[in-house]
Amino acid sequence: MENRLNHERLIASLEELGKIGVGKDGQRNRLALSDGDKAARDLLCKWIKEAGLDLKIDPIGNIFGVLSGTEDGDPVIAGSHIDTVPNAGMFDGCVGVLSALEALRTIAGKKLPHRRSLAVAAWTNEEGSRFLPGVLGSSVFVGDLPLEKALAARDFSGVTAGDELARIGYAGCDTLKASAYMEFHVEQGPFLDAQKLEIGVVTGITGLSRWDVTYKGEANHAGTTPMNLRHDPLVAASKLHLAMSAAAAEKNAVFTVGHVEVSPGAVNVVPGRTFFTIDLRSQDRTVLDELHVRCEAEIRRCAREEGVDVECIPTDHSDPVSFAPGMIEKVERFAKLRGLSNRRMGSGAGHDAQVFAPRVPTAMIFVPSIGGKSHCPEELSDMNLICQGAEILTDCLLELANE
Ligand SMILES: [Zn+2]
Repeated sequence: MENRLNHERLIASLEELGKIGVGKDGQRNRLALSDGDKAARDLLCKWIKEAGLDLKIDPIGNIFGVLSGTEDGDPVIAGSHIDTVPNAGMFDGCVGVLSALEALRTIAGKKLPHRRSLAVAAWTNEEGSRFLPGVLGSSVFVGDLPLEKALAARDFSGVTAGDELARIGYAGCDTLKASAYMEFHVEQGPFLDAQKLEIGVVTGITGLSRWDVTYKGEANHAGTTPMNLRHDPLVAASKLHLAMSAAAAEKNAVFTVGHVEVSPGAVNVVPGRTFFTIDLRSQDRTVLDELHVRCEAEIRRCAREEGVDVECIPTDHSDPVSFAPGMIEKVERFAKLRGLSNRRMGSGAGHDAQVFAPRVPTAMIFVPSIGGKSHCPEELSDMNLICQGAEILTDCLLELANE
């Protein structure tokens, strides 16, 4: 199949957007609704207008560029996000937004026929690094999260998303609905790069359960307190970590304790309190449900064994989602037609696509992340493969718009 897109323009756009939010220290920071995010939004809106698309901004600050079709009806939307984690790379999210923009620039510029309307979208606060929850803008868009609740979300300094949206001038009043959703993204994991594959045909997105756990025991002298008389909350946490890591590995799931606080935190004191976070994920709903129940039981069992008190707060839960078979087949077919090596795979990371999948036909395309690195400055993907992924996105959009 011939290439349709202007690859130089796509790469130049990615590089230009990638420069925004880079500070004197060389770090790229475009946390949602920050000044860096505003500058990136301004550039995207400029490009949307230059492409002759209809710029729309909704009340949670999601940005759209709409290209009307010859028929009435809700657009097929392709998008992702341009907010970043702290000290981010330049590919996460931006690849999806700018590839969708390049697809629409080309379809508009070459007047490629499309019956249904098409739209590029940049969703607000996908990362959740500043405001919780993540995938905030897309969740409001589909009606999973009430607008008032999203606007009231506070960052670490107490500022609300609503105040920041108003401050940067992105509290819009447009409305839109999606008839189908496509998202092109870098893999953010090592699978494709390790297998030397060019395209990931994404079949669904992992589900997750998260908890904040506090174990309270007895702080005591590290030299004089015999082992059998201790109530050490860190020992309880360690036992839980080992038990659940083994249980997850057995079921092809993943279990992470990513943040631990031990107090008082002295070399010669048996800890009195341990706080830690749990992140448990699986692509399989039955497995996730089973491990969720198992984890809560293990949290209590380990506390009992060490004689410590436990406080366990569930902080997040999402079910695994599967994409529509017809949408998966489309991505796979165009990858093959373009002669690109590919494989079906699940996504271990969350994406805006997860909120669309239960509602409208949804699909995702991955390209390899070199070395599997993401959410860090070393994040890297091959520009040539990004352009090929963007071609597949365009193939799918045109087919969806004309079927
Ligand atoms: Zn992302």
